[in-house]
Amino acid sequence: MVTIIGGGIAGTLLAGALARNGHPVTVYESQPAVGAGHFLALDDRAQAALAQLGVGIDRLHRASYPLTELRAADRSGTIRSDTRAERRLYLRAELIRALTEFATGTTADIRFGTPVTELSAEGELRSGANQLPADDVVIAADGIDSLARRTLEPERRAEYSGQIIIYGITTRPIQPSTDPSVLHFHRQLDDDGRPVSTFGHFWNDEISVWFTRLTREPLALPGIGSQPLGGWPEPILAGAKAIPELVETMLAATDTVHVSNARTVPLADARPPQAPVILCGDADHAITPAAGVGARDAIEDAAALAEAITSGGSPAAAMAERRRQILDERAEAAQMFRSAT
Ligand SMILES: Cc1cc2nc3c(=O)[nH]c(=O)nc-3n(C[C@H](O)[C@H](O)[C@H](O)COP(=O)(O)OP(=O)(O)OC[C@H]3O[C@@H](n4cnc5c(N)ncnc54)[C@H](O)[C@@H]3O)c2cc1C
Repeated sequence: MVTIIGGGIAGTLLAGALARNGHPVTVYESQPAVGAGHFLALDDRAQAALAQLGVGIDRLHRASYPLTELRAADRSGTIRSDTRAERRLYLRAELIRALTEFATGTTADIRFGTPVTELSAEGELRSGANQLPADDVVIAADGIDSLARRTLEPERRAEYSGQIIIYGITTRPIQPSTDPSVLHFHRQLDDDGRPVSTFGHFWNDEISVWFTRLTREPLALPGIGSQPLGGWPEPILAGAKAIPELVETMLAATDTVHVSNARTVPLADARPPQAPVILCGDADHAITPAAGVGARDAIEDAAALAEAITSGGSPAAAMAERRRQILDERAEAAQMFRSAT
């Protein structure tokens, strides 16, 4: 029997993959239902892992849009273009909906509206006054503010990466003069050439979405989450001086934004994974959204854990190996970044 805390990307996917292979699994998800949120890009590795675990490609395509290129520009024009990976753009809610359909099509038992409020290193769980049934393996896929990580490794706290991020989905498709199906990034530098903000957008015939990252002090809790656009246009426009018309058009068609502090969970000195409670996805190694790989990492964790559990292997060893891969890839990405700047 497997218990999963958190029915986000990793938890829902893992639940479906395990149940499909005959493993009884229960997921406790604090939210009452699949919520709204931001959008994200998944690369070919993530799509391949999803397909390998049995999520239908057709269903994934219905939940997403082709993304042909990542293109970065500043005042001087295009500075970087990446067409290497086959990416797709998902509204997070649509991805979770597709994964939830995948999992609920199996024997997986997903309990929405059931936050885990207490957990012990031995895997005993409570939700409020209720003791939850204990299982042999507890996978903590409870996101960046993981209760499990706070309990098992209180010193390993999420750290602010220096930028706030604001995501918007327009209420009607906007068709600017930029190329469609491309994720455009416009970078603004300060007088010393350091990036201080980025405005990104994507559009096609069906949707248009935008985001901005602003270098500044972190927001306090009440400022975080979904909220009306309110007073945000001013700092957003100040951070995108080279493209005011594009930004104004996008903002004029946006009612609600999703605001967060970009954060990373340090992995280098993490306690080795240890049964029965194993951290997975953002709970274990969240990375700033600017890296654009957190969801892929979470999906690949789910794939590694599914493989270990269904083959009678050790989920702790599987996550230890995942951490090695992730640290190697981050070191490589940092090296590439250093040589490119
Ligand atoms: C603005 C933004 C943009 C991003 N863009 C990208 C991108 O382009 N590409 C990419 O690969 N990644 C991106 N990411 C990162 C990606 O969204 C995360 O890495 C991914 O969602 C992690 O999946 P997860 O399953 O580990 O956690 P989550 O998807 O966060 O799921 C955690 C779940 O646990 C639940 N939960 C939390 N605590 C409890 C509890 N105590 N009891 C029960 N349930 C609980 C939560 O409600 C949630 O449903 C982005 C992130 C943000 C914030």
